[in-house]
Amino acid sequence: MAAADLVEQRRGQMFPTLTERQIERIAGHGARRRVRRGEILIEQGTHGMPFHVVLAGTVEIVRPYAGHEDRVTVHHPGEFTGETSLLAGRRSLVRARAGEDGEVLEVPHETLRTLLQTDAELGEIIMRAFILRRVALIGRGWGDVVLVGSDHSPSTLALRQFLIRNAHPHRYLDLDHDPEVQALLDRVGVRFDEIPVLVCRGDRVLRNPTFAQVADCLGLNAEIDVAAVRDLLVVGAGPAGLAAAVYGASEGLDVLVLEKHAPGGQAGSSSKIENYLGFPTGISGQALAGRAFTQAEKFGADVAIANAAVKLQCDRRPFAVQLSTGPVVHARAIVIASGAQYRKLPLERLSAFEGTGVYYAATTVETQICHGEDVAIVGGGNSAGQAAVYLAETARHVHVLVRADGLAATMSRYLIRRIEESPNVTLHTRTEITALEGDDHLRHVHWRCAANGAVERREIRHLFLMTGAEPNTAWLAGCVALDDKGFVKTGSDLRADELAAARWPLARSPHLLETSVPGIFAVGDVRAASVKRVASAVGEGSICVQLVHKTLGE
Ligand SMILES: Cc1cc2nc3c(=O)[nH]c(=O)nc-3n(C[C@H](O)[C@H](O)[C@H](O)COP(=O)(O)OP(=O)(O)OC[C@H]3O[C@@H](n4cnc5c(N)ncnc54)[C@H](O)[C@@H]3O)c2cc1C
Repeated sequence: MAAADLVEQRRGQMFPTLTERQIERIAGHGARRRVRRGEILIEQGTHGMPFHVVLAGTVEIVRPYAGHEDRVTVHHPGEFTGETSLLAGRRSLVRARAGEDGEVLEVPHETLRTLLQTDAELGEIIMRAFILRRVALIGRGWGDVVLVGSDHSPSTLALRQFLIRNAHPHRYLDLDHDPEVQALLDRVGVRFDEIPVLVCRGDRVLRNPTFAQVADCLGLNAEIDVAAVRDLLVVGAGPAGLAAAVYGASEGLDVLVLEKHAPGGQAGSSSKIENYLGFPTGISGQALAGRAFTQAEKFGADVAIANAAVKLQCDRRPFAVQLSTGPVVHARAIVIASGAQYRKLPLERLSAFEGTGVYYAATTVETQICHGEDVAIVGGGNSAGQAAVYLAETARHVHVLVRADGLAATMSRYLIRRIEESPNVTLHTRTEITALEGDDHLRHVHWRCAANGAVERREIRHLFLMTGAEPNTAWLAGCVALDDKGFVKTGSDLRADELAAARWPLARSPHLLETSVPGIFAVGDVRAASVKRVASAVGEGSICVQLVHKTLGE
């Protein structure tokens, strides 16, 4: 939906007028303040901005940009200021100014957060308005940053994805198409060959920045106190980590989440999740992650973006985790939710087709999508074999591609037999994919057979990569027991000898989801033998909080 249509259709929810009784409930948490026409209540870029309810007069919301102001809205009596940045005290994207002499009710942002948690009615009205306002700002590209780059540059793409996945409103100018690019580059003194360039608040220029530099420039982590000893440190803000953050923070724990990239994890890259409970028409991974992230912040969890855990120290409590940005953070309990990365093929347009022709799982959803069509599967393990047998039930033809001479060394005999007996499954040995072709969807796959060097171009719209996943566990530095593939072992899966080797110090056995170190838990895809699905990651992240409470009391 276009931003203007969204504002038009949902104006009532985006800019609601509070009743007198609702304002009275807020009044107990803030202070009345007289304002003069033209007085700035919040300047763009201010951290920890307060929340205002207009009691008399008006408050104009504008976005300063390149020497002029874009008008966002005008708040009248009963209306309130703010959007999602206010929840965590992030920098204001806009300027708020009194349009007339009047009066406002001013509430500090921490106090507003408590109010949102305790007053269900106000919480719903204000949270909905905040989220819709942020969506509208994103739709209009009304933020405090401009990204200048090229559609042909992978670093530009990575930065765009970072901004989009962090739901940060921004303008993107393409070097090859936007006429204003030259004027902007001249103004900030940047050459064409220095792109991608991020211009923050009109003056700070970042040439081909790292994610950490961008996060710093956007002020994403500015309010986070890294020196505090936390009750719970969650590593990873995918579905599992965000669930742990929501449940931990809502149940009174002081929670810090570390995220290497952006909230959402692998799920964030899914164009539509159709099997997550409660969303019968599906939900994009981005939307699900955005909601979960806002929910975690509403309950008071801090989420540090572009901050990876690089080393865990677990020999004494509180545990210590070294961050990629430098500091060391301490916590009394840790939830490992750093997920896994599907092994990817080194193919140029792979990421463009992920979710639109390239898949990493063969569930009912995928079988429906490729019903009656030819599909290809890359991989020689049992997951590839299961996928081949499953897809053969509905696809026209299934091509299984392996680099090896055959499947015997990697796949169970029963699956090999089924593949051999299926008339619509063909095994291509010593074969590798060389290119992907398509537009907004995969259309053709090129592969080469090493035996005769022949390259074929096949009309295949669905490619399944079943080459295994690698857990993000390098940062654990040998602290906890892992399985032979590097996934974290938990609960009753831990053998007596593994607990002995880890010097398990307690009379009790490890709790469900607890690793070989008491007080350190693992949830979601990073956990050995986990079901690699959004729902199970969310479930594990949620229930582990009960067990964290038990260990904190030990
Ligand atoms: C393209 C795609 C589509 C999918 N579609 C579906 C679907 O439709 N339905 C379904 O049920 N499942 C789907 N899945 C699987 C699902 O996304 C995963 O099972 C789920 O995301 C696992 O959640 P998680 O939180 O355990 O891990 P992840 O989602 O992997 O999240 C882990 C997070 O940890 C961060 N991280 C990693 N290392 C560190 C570190 N050292 N420090 C800080 N942060 C770190 C990562 O950046 C990431 O954000 C899909 C997966 C992919 C790739």
